[in-house]
Amino acid sequence: MNFADSEIVNSIMVERGMTPSETPEDASVVFINTCSIRDNAERKVWNRLHDFRKMKRQRNGDMVVGILGCMAERLREKFLEKEKLVDLVVGPDAYRELPSLLAEVEDGRKAVNVILSQEETYADITPVRTTGNGVSAFVSVMRGCDNMCSFCVVPFTRGRERSRAVESVLDEFKILSDQGYREVTLLGQNVNSYNHEGRNFAELMYRCSLIDPEMRIRFSTSHPKDFPDEFLQVMQERHNICNYIHIPIQSGNNEVLERMRRTYTREEYLDLIDKMKEMIPGVSLSTDIIAGFCGETEAQHRDTLDVMKRVRYDLAYMFAYSERERTLAHRKFEDDVPGEVKKRRLSEIIQLQQEIAAEQNRLEIGKRHVVLAEGRSKRSAEQLSGRTDTNKMTIFDKGSYQSGDYVEVEIIDANSATLKATALRKVTLSETVAEPITV
Ligand code: SAH
Ligand code: SF4
Repeated sequence: MNFADSEIVNSIMVERGMTPSETPEDASVVFINTCSIRDNAERKVWNRLHDFRKMKRQRNGDMVVGILGCMAERLREKFLEKEKLVDLVVGPDAYRELPSLLAEVEDGRKAVNVILSQEETYADITPVRTTGNGVSAFVSVMRGCDNMCSFCVVPFTRGRERSRAVESVLDEFKILSDQGYREVTLLGQNVNSYNHEGRNFAELMYRCSLIDPEMRIRFSTSHPKDFPDEFLQVMQERHNICNYIHIPIQSGNNEVLERMRRTYTREEYLDLIDKMKEMIPGVSLSTDIIAGFCGETEAQHRDTLDVMKRVRYDLAYMFAYSERERTLAHRKFEDDVPGEVKKRRLSEIIQLQQEIAAEQNRLEIGKRHVVLAEGRSKRSAEQLSGRTDTNKMTIFDKGSYQSGDYVEVEIIDANSATLKATALRKVTLSETVAEPITV
């Protein structure tokens, strides 16, 4: 989401006549787009800021440093007054004001705008894209979150939930298709609560999928509380919506889920997973898990391990609980699982997930997949890497294939993170589906 936001900021700056520079050393203005989700995310930003302070001193102050995003929202004055590290503090809903705020800084003042909005979606701003290699792009379809999970700071830093108009999303899709993009990921804190004038996410996805049958569509993130059958039917029907769902569970124990205010039970979650597997054969699933939330017992931790064994996620993002100010958990519960215990539980979760992912990936050996080539692999310029429809990172010899090609491959080897494949032929997405494509 921050990558997508930075691309919006990029566009606003380019509009103002500025050009992106390759390195901070060359830049007259440096923005750090920040995340507050866990303490270690914030710590990285503080370290980065100290580096920039040094750089600014070396340049006799001739450099503007700005903090954008969730930390700007959360810490506001702390940056300007106590730390005197930055010139500009701008929250996630105030990026349109960046040019006028920069003008204030040029006049020798410090500038702040952390006002959250009920409407801002930046719908009319075409992002200047810096990620995705011209092959894959992010499109934000909603902002903010109304869910108030007790551990989470997002509702405080990103404000109320709001959705962008269907037409503006479709227009951006058309532009991306014309520019040759092959994959779009629709983004929101909870895309399933997308609602614009009564039009829901299932409808949005369906209409997006009609724009270009050669464009793959992904989406992130879905909350288990509202994943309607209608949406699974759209996934089933449309060949270019990828068979991959990120569906965070957080914990496998009902009491912990209740304290987390996740509003579903373990049983409801497992029923939903069964339905997903039944309606979308071969669907790939990923999740988020928090280890050591307030009051979590050893038995409750084992319930999480147990759910992991039942679902068999292909991928998981796993975290130790990090207390955040202002959240319900901070006000109401005690962060009472000792650091060492959190760490040990987290490593048990990671270890189990690695075993499961390796087993899941080994099942792919001998199978064929269509991979969208995204760019050279990290290891070698002679290899391309890309993802299967099911979001599995795959590498294969480059041959005459290029980024942006759909390549049919056969999987020949696998570990917990990556599949290795032999490329067979270049294909179109449309020819890989048995049924005719109706537009
Ligand atoms: N909107 C998404 C999650 C966004 S935050 C959703 O509800 O699924 C991404 C992940 O960070 C969360 O799913 C959660 O696992 C983790 N997270 C959020 N707050 C956290 C905290 N205080 N400590 C540890 N992990 C946290
Ligand atoms: Fe945070 Fe919950 Fe909203 Fe996700 S759904 S952003 S975890 S409050």
